[in-house]
Amino acid sequence: MQKRALVVGLGIAGMSAAIGLRQAGWTPVIVERAPERRTGGYFVGLFPAGRQAAVDLGIADHLHTRNPDRAAGADSWSVDRRGRRRSTLGFLDQPGEPAATLRGDIEAALWEGITGIEVRFATTPIAITEGPAEVQVVLQNTGTGAQARESFDLVVGADGMRSSVRRIVFGPHEEYVTRWNAMICAFQLKEQVPAYGASDSIVIARAKRAVWVFGLADHAPTALLTYRTRDIQEQFSGSRVERLRAIFSGMDDPVVRHVLDSLQEAPDHLFDSVHQVRMPRWSAGRVVVVGDAAWCMNLYSGMGATSSLRGGAALGTTLQDHPDDLQAALGTWEAGLRPFITQHQRTARLKQQMFVPSSRRAEALRAVLVALAHRIRGRRPATEVDGPGSSALSGTSAQSPSSARMNA
Ligand SMILES: Cc1cc2nc3c(=O)[nH]c(=O)nc-3n(C[C@H](O)[C@H](O)[C@H](O)COP(=O)(O)OP(=O)(O)OC[C@H]3O[C@@H](n4cnc5c(N)ncnc54)[C@H](O)[C@@H]3O)c2cc1C
Repeated sequence: MQKRALVVGLGIAGMSAAIGLRQAGWTPVIVERAPERRTGGYFVGLFPAGRQAAVDLGIADHLHTRNPDRAAGADSWSVDRRGRRRSTLGFLDQPGEPAATLRGDIEAALWEGITGIEVRFATTPIAITEGPAEVQVVLQNTGTGAQARESFDLVVGADGMRSSVRRIVFGPHEEYVTRWNAMICAFQLKEQVPAYGASDSIVIARAKRAVWVFGLADHAPTALLTYRTRDIQEQFSGSRVERLRAIFSGMDDPVVRHVLDSLQEAPDHLFDSVHQVRMPRWSAGRVVVVGDAAWCMNLYSGMGATSSLRGGAALGTTLQDHPDDLQAALGTWEAGLRPFITQHQRTARLKQQMFVPSSRRAEALRAVLVALAHRIRGRRPATEVDGPGSSALSGTSAQSPSSARMNA
């Protein structure tokens, strides 16, 4: 008989795990707390490990990427304290040259990949009890409150940073979630900042506060406001727009003004505190956590989506390799993945300085380092930077002037 797995969460980690489980011969059932599938979302850069996982999961052909076309003039700009703009290195110029997507692009590709898998919306687990040969879960309908008990061979908690599965099985959030004294607000701009090219990216990184505009090929840019603060609780009180206007007041720049005005008109936005999740073990008996639930690295790492895809794909592979020994499979999965996760959790602190410097000194150092890297990159022969086949960027722009479906 096919083994059944309950996957909690219809995000990148949950859908990746569900596809991996199906590839391993399991029958996954996904439950999602929300009443329907979410779409859209913020800018996400997908690194090579994530793109490879997309191939492994068989969804690469469905994945829509949106890297701006450099050859057509799209550029990245930094704006200094005097309001001068300079061409700079942007997020997409990092080593590994990420593919530009919206979170919804990745989820849409995974959604195609889970065709045929049962998905129950408005459903959440409220109790998880492990027996000798199965795990019993009480599932609740969030609309009606109706409850039902069901047995599974495995429970996969892919329910994000504030995971219920982690809380129920492993213990309270405080044991695993560390606070980074920083806030983010991400949303889609209705239109590009005036006087910039449609697909341009813009960075204004000041001490303790930063504004990022991520240009995309075939979509209006997305914006990210991020700032450092010790008083996280206070940030959630009152009007968000007013709070952000106050935080970014004094940065009197047309880019900042445009982004703040756009926030006021945006139909939705993500406003949250920044955390990292660190767990000594990602599984206990027949329950395993993946993605942000297990190892949330946070947005500064830029590796959350990549690691969620990779974690889900790897879970399927190890279950396939150990069909009759669940504990061996989960142990092997964790041992294989842990070094990759630990490395990116560590470097996230450094990357945070690139996103939002902690002081005037860090701001100045960041500016020098980025300018140096930009100069070095500019000196490389044109074929290395812009030549066909040299990068994910060139791979995308070579296929279409504006957008592409990823196929490798
Ligand atoms: C602004 C921003 C920028 C980012 N940029 C990047 C980037 O450039 N590159 C990158 O790789 N990553 C990036 N990330 C991180 C990346 O988006 C996440 O790491 C990734 O989406 C996590 O996926 P997940 O499936 O683990 O969790 P989530 O996306 O949180 O999904 C969890 C799902 O579980 C559901 N759920 C929650 N609780 C329950 C419950 N009790 N019962 C049932 N369902 C439940 C939720 O509704 C949701 O659908 C960024 C994140 C942010 C916020």
